[in-house]
Amino acid sequence: MTQTKLIHVIGGGLAGSEAAWQIASAGVPVVIHEMRAKRMTDAHKTDGLAELVCSNSFRSDDWETSAIGLLHEEMRRAGSLVLKAADRHKLPAGGALAVDRDAFSAEITRRLAEHPLVVIEREEIAGLPPETWDSVIIATGPLTSPDLSRAIKELTGESDLAFFDAIAPVVHRESIDMSVAWFQSRYDKAGPAGSGADYINCPLSKPEYEAFIAALLAGEKTSFKEWEATTPYFDGCLPIEVMAERGHDTLRFGPMKPVGLADPHKGGVRPHAVVQLRQDNALGSLWNMVGFQTKLKHGEQVRIFRMIPGLEAAEFARLGGLHRNTFLNSPKLLDAGLRLTAMPRLRFAGQITGVEGYVESAAIGLLAGRFAAAERAGSTCAPPPPTTALGALIAHITGGHLLEGTSSFQPMNINHGLLPPTEAPERDADGKRLKGKEKGRAKKRAVAVRALADIERWLAEQQVGRAAAE
Ligand SMILES: Cc1cc2nc3c(=O)[nH]c(=O)nc-3n(C[C@H](O)[C@H](O)[C@H](O)COP(=O)(O)OP(=O)(O)OC[C@H]3O[C@@H](n4cnc5c(N)ncnc54)[C@H](O)[C@@H]3O)c2cc1C
Repeated sequence: MTQTKLIHVIGGGLAGSEAAWQIASAGVPVVIHEMRAKRMTDAHKTDGLAELVCSNSFRSDDWETSAIGLLHEEMRRAGSLVLKAADRHKLPAGGALAVDRDAFSAEITRRLAEHPLVVIEREEIAGLPPETWDSVIIATGPLTSPDLSRAIKELTGESDLAFFDAIAPVVHRESIDMSVAWFQSRYDKAGPAGSGADYINCPLSKPEYEAFIAALLAGEKTSFKEWEATTPYFDGCLPIEVMAERGHDTLRFGPMKPVGLADPHKGGVRPHAVVQLRQDNALGSLWNMVGFQTKLKHGEQVRIFRMIPGLEAAEFARLGGLHRNTFLNSPKLLDAGLRLTAMPRLRFAGQITGVEGYVESAAIGLLAGRFAAAERAGSTCAPPPPTTALGALIAHITGGHLLEGTSSFQPMNINHGLLPPTEAPERDADGKRLKGKEKGRAKKRAVAVRALADIERWLAEQQVGRAAAE
């Protein structure tokens, strides 16, 4: 292996393993620096690469109707090692892709260890990588070791590296009942980038508020793991049910305060309480429930949040949560090629970039690996088009998310709200007009068919690029 041409990947998890595979597959030598088994994280239990720390599911495998299934399919077409190993070691799980976690991790470890262009070093990188490493992918995940986290924080600034995610539920705009809700900013303030009507407001009467608080208090919650509870970064983002426990009206004076808002459907009266939703992506298809981070169980969130007037039929692009998680304010810090603008020799990949989930982390690893390999070969690799699941995901973390202040960026799973809509057939094969669920399926299928055509085109362009650079 020639020292000058090496790419370094720090972290041999889902993203790092995939990135290294893509680099080696492009003919470029790569070193993976993985700290396990010398140093463990709080969640990992083995020294295997791409260990799944919790569930063994990669979620739905249906590319026609599920955004995660579409991401699987695009990754398969891009030669993903993670998908190859998952397909080989899948277990019966209905429509989901679930895997035998030990066989999955063992296969990835073996395939990388046996690759002639891959070296695996078992060591912690405890600070910024040496300057002689001119192309580095940092894929150290949600539990990046403290010394490296500290170094990244010094480089990026205090507020641009988070140690907890505080995720408020995100709702599909089209599922909000606007005959009940309305657009208005508090006191109609336009602010730097607004119009004065930037929030969707859902009003609650006194009895509705009381029923909602009672449901919150009684709702089933998940608890913090012991090591999460002792992480000292949790103060600024209390879950709503904890606020509700502190006093009956605490939420009405916090995220549910109604001041400066008037309900146009009720002659302009101020409601007893309000839930506000703020636009979450540039497309305007996703809206997050402001200040609604929660440890309620997912089923309980759906049940309780649908008690809110205007959200009775809400469809959630993601549900709320609060976890120990290390992630960057990527829309501000990274360029379209996942490079840190302040130090472009460093790329980031995986959960640390603000995506969420095994597959999404591996997907960003796949892209980072391809970008780094193309750069090493003297060529460039443009991101996939935003009409693809891979493209929509990277667009979200590097630009598609709205930047409001510095703290609004929170980790996101792939979902249909990140993909631009397209024309869908109005009728079925027999000429019958599509309605309800069938219509929804047809829309998703049209988006998926377009995505697969576009990813094929993108992959073909990369091959032409690779051939030209050789
Ligand atoms: C407790 C927990 C449970 C989760 N459960 C799920 C789930 O059920 N389903 C799901 O889809 N997602 C889940 N996630 C979210 C996420 O998808 C996974 O964490 C995923 O593994 C992230 O992939 P990654 O490659 O970014 O990070 P990881 O897979 O964590 O890989 C990072 C690697 O970097 C190594 N490392 C860290 N610091 C250093 C250093 N300084 N030097 C060298 N190596 C280092 C680590 O040992 C690790 O191997 C969970 C996350 C956590 C924390």
